[in-house]
Amino acid sequence: LFESVELAPRDPILGLNEQYNADTRPGKVNLGVGVYYDDEGRIPLLQAVRKAEEARVEAHAARGYLPIEGIPGYNKGAQTLLLGENSPLVAAGRVLTAQALGGTGALKIGADFLKQILPGSKVAISNPSWENHRALFERAGFTVETYPYYDAATHGLNFDAMLAAFKAMPEETIVVLHACCHNPTGVDPSLEQWARIADVIKARNLVPFLDIAYQGFGEGLEQDAAVVRMFAERDMTMFISSSFSKSFSLYGERVGALTLITSSKEESGRVLSQLKRVIRTNYSNPPTHGGTVVSMVLNTPELFALWVDELAAMRERIRSMRAQLVEKLKAQGVKQNFDFVLQQRGMFSYSGLTSDQVDRLRDEHGVYAVASGRICVAALNSRNIDYVAQSIAKVLA
Ligand code: PMP
Repeated sequence: LFESVELAPRDPILGLNEQYNADTRPGKVNLGVGVYYDDEGRIPLLQAVRKAEEARVEAHAARGYLPIEGIPGYNKGAQTLLLGENSPLVAAGRVLTAQALGGTGALKIGADFLKQILPGSKVAISNPSWENHRALFERAGFTVETYPYYDAATHGLNFDAMLAAFKAMPEETIVVLHACCHNPTGVDPSLEQWARIADVIKARNLVPFLDIAYQGFGEGLEQDAAVVRMFAERDMTMFISSSFSKSFSLYGERVGALTLITSSKEESGRVLSQLKRVIRTNYSNPPTHGGTVVSMVLNTPELFALWVDELAAMRERIRSMRAQLVEKLKAQGVKQNFDFVLQQRGMFSYSGLTSDQVDRLRDEHGVYAVASGRICVAALNSRNIDYVAQSIAKVLA
C-alpha cells in the first residue's frame, strides 16, 4: 500500500526549529519562528485569556457539539473586529462568518468553497508570501501564480508592477492579499496605495481574499482593519480569513474565522448553507474551548479592554525591538542603512541578509533566521538583542 509513497520535503521553518533545539550553544537565539515571545522569551498567556478560562472552568460547562459554523458570539465578535461596530453590511445581512481552525482552517474552507464556485479560476499570491498560501490553494485544486510585491533593492513595495499585474489578470482571478503586517516581508502598501489596489481589483472583477493574521500588531485593532473596510466600502463580494493565534497568543487552540461578504441577505443564506457543507465534510464542527474563551473576551467589556491593552503592549514591544535593533547595529559600526526595519510592520522583518549571511549567523553565532533573511522581531528581547546585533555586525563586516 505505501511502497510508492515518497518522502515529502521537510517544512523549512520546522526543520530550522529542530536544528535550533539540537544546538547546545547556550547563547543561541531563534529568530526563525513565527510566534510572539515576551521579553522573558516566553509565549505569553494573556491575562484576559486567563480570566476567561478561569470563568469557563468555574462554570463547569458541558461540551456538546457546536453549530457547524461555530459560536454565534465568536462569529459576531470576529465581524465587529473586521468591520466595526455599526457596519451597514452586517445590518443588511450581507456578512456571514464561520468559526474556523485558525487562520489556516479559514483559508482552507474558503479555498474548498471557492473551488466549488469558481473551478476554473487561478489564485494569485504575493511574491513572496506566507509559504502555506501556495500549498493550501494548490491542495484545494487551484493553479497558483504570484504577483510582484517586494522590491529587494528598496526594501519596499514594487507597487507599479503589482498594480500592473492586477490589471492584466483575467476576471475572477482570486487574489490573496495580506490585509496588514505582511508575512514574511513586514512591508505593507500605504492606505493610498491600498485604495488604488482596491479600485483595480473591483474594476477588473477580481475576487479578493483578504488574509488578516496580525490584526492589532501593526498600528492598532481599528487601524489594521482599514484595508478590510476599504474593500467593504467599495461594495465588493469577498473572502476574509482571520487568525487570532497571535493576537490572543492562543496558537494551539486553533482560533480563526472565515468571513464572507455577499450581495444580499438572501444570497448569504444560500452561501452559508454551502459553506456549512464544506465544513461538515471536513471536521463537522469546530472545537469549544479556544472559541469560547475568545468569544468571552470579545463580548465582555472589561476583558475586551484588558485584551486591547495587552495587545498594545505586544505591539509596542515589537516596535521597541525594531528601534533598538537599528540603533544597536549603528552602534556596532554597521555601515548599511537599516532604517527600513522601522517602516516594516508586524512580527517579521525581511532583514536584507543574504542566505550566505544567514548560514554564517547560524553556524558561527548560533543565531537562527530563515534563509530568505526573514527574522521574527518578536523573538528579540532585552537579553538577546545585543548579541544579535553584534552577530549581524560580524557577518556584515
Ligand atoms: N496567514 C498568514 C499570513 C500567517 O502568517 C499565518 C500564520 N503564521 C496564518 C495565516 C495562519 O494562522 P493560524 O496559525 O491561525 O492558522
